[in-house]
Amino acid sequence: TALPPPPLPAPTSVDAPAPASLAELEAREITAWFGSHQVLDRVSLTMPAGGITALIGPSGCGKSTFLRILNRMHELVPSAKLAGEVLLDGEDIYDPGKRLIDARRAIGMVFQKPNPFPAMSIRENVLAGLKLTGTKMRKSDKADLVESCLTKGGLWNEVKDRLDAPGGGLSGGQQQRLCIARSLAVRPRVLLMDEPCSALDPTSTRVIEETMVELAQEVTIVIVTHNMQQAARVSDQCAFFLASHRTPGVIVEHGDTRAMFENPQDSRTADYVNGRF
Ligand code: ADP
Ligand code: MG
Repeated sequence: TALPPPPLPAPTSVDAPAPASLAELEAREITAWFGSHQVLDRVSLTMPAGGITALIGPSGCGKSTFLRILNRMHELVPSAKLAGEVLLDGEDIYDPGKRLIDARRAIGMVFQKPNPFPAMSIRENVLAGLKLTGTKMRKSDKADLVESCLTKGGLWNEVKDRLDAPGGGLSGGQQQRLCIARSLAVRPRVLLMDEPCSALDPTSTRVIEETMVELAQEVTIVIVTHNMQQAARVSDQCAFFLASHRTPGVIVEHGDTRAMFENPQDSRTADYVNGRF
């Protein structure tokens, strides 16, 4: 009988945990309510694999609700209702046969206000998601994972000498990058970011934008932003949401970011991207 092949040599540098592959996320005909208040009306959008999609539009038009629907956080609100489908590489995450934990793990979320566990160490923060998902790992693999996630989060060089310091002791921008690193530890295929830089200074914002562009090589990114320059700098594709006090949120226009900023097809998009709202 043939002998098994010899083991591969150990990698010399810390290797990034390779995600399975890039994933496309598609929302189909999403309609959402809080009680009897309808906030989205048949919103469809394809978020291409490995791209950055920016969701833009005035406050209250349903961007955060839409984002939360993309990883099944909407259903945490007791009054929330939903119709439509969310397909991750063609499979509906709302399929009754699918587990909630798998959707949350595959589709991570970063919020406006950085929310690391303040008393936990930087290292423990990065590893926190493994506990939630019940993932078991050897100690050396954990150390590798911490390094690779912090590196991808653009934070490694700043914290490598103090991984046991509490997460709460970092600056706001560093805390947000720690949250990005934490969300990467469970190897998500999509990262949702709800105004991730709104609470940060311009320098931290630029660092996170650079981090995001790098990450998009391996994770599909959807970002909500009020900052039009940011949308223009980082995103490949934009979707402009709009609602009124009578009508629920819809996507007025979506497409290639540059085209939308330079040559918007709808006068309301033109007004919004040019700051006339
Ligand atoms: P955006 O992120 O674009 O500012 P949201 O998705 O936060 O908009 O809100 C859309 C609409 O849904 C708003 O009218 C808001 O008041 C309402 N809404 C959001 N969250 C809740 C909630 N938990 N309960 C009830 N209504 C909500
Ligand atoms: Mg919002």
